[in-house]
Amino acid sequence: MTIYDNFYVYAPVSGQITALDYYCGDGYHPRNYENVSPIDIGGGGGGSLIFKASSNVKSIHIGHWSLCSGYGSPWSDGVYVELYSAEGTPYWAKFGAVYYGHVANRAAESWPNYNGSSVTLGTVPSSCPCGVCYNPCCEGDDCWCTPICDPCNCCYQGAHSHFELRNDSPVSSVNPNLYCGKQMYAGDSSSWVYKWQVAIG
Ligand SMILES: [Zn+2]
Repeated sequence: MTIYDNFYVYAPVSGQITALDYYCGDGYHPRNYENVSPIDIGGGGGGSLIFKASSNVKSIHIGHWSLCSGYGSPWSDGVYVELYSAEGTPYWAKFGAVYYGHVANRAAESWPNYNGSSVTLGTVPSSCPCGVCYNPCCEGDDCWCTPICDPCNCCYQGAHSHFELRNDSPVSSVNPNLYCGKQMYAGDSSSWVYKWQVAIG
């Protein structure tokens, strides 16, 4: 008989949800590399961005990635976290990944691994250039960017944390109780954001 366990990832910052698949009260919420289920949590500028998962996540791998942003670094800097159900990041225990965008003071890429279920990924950028039109990067399949001429409105929303599920994360789901304006609390297990149900034996 196959045994399953549920693994959870919690909010990395405290604040209100300002976007799910769509911006709250607005258009399509961009995502990267065919990832799915993006979420924005507003506010938190200058504060820590903390990855926290349920304690049955036994190790993680941290990598760097770049996302399209007309504002450049650090808005275009990202950190992804791969999750494992065993210590030491053995390949067979990897079950999913979360991509975080707009990360200042990024944590170093980790090899071979980081044992545990929580780590600080960096900080949330608190400001961006004002009053300038940018012609954002536009590469690969994710060519959603249009020129940004909306001064002093960083990434549409001001300081926020953006994160999304890697498209190949199997058997993952998003908390169905999330909604625009919902107050989230960093690391709060009662309002998890992503869940995986994984066979562990
Ligand atoms: Zn976003």
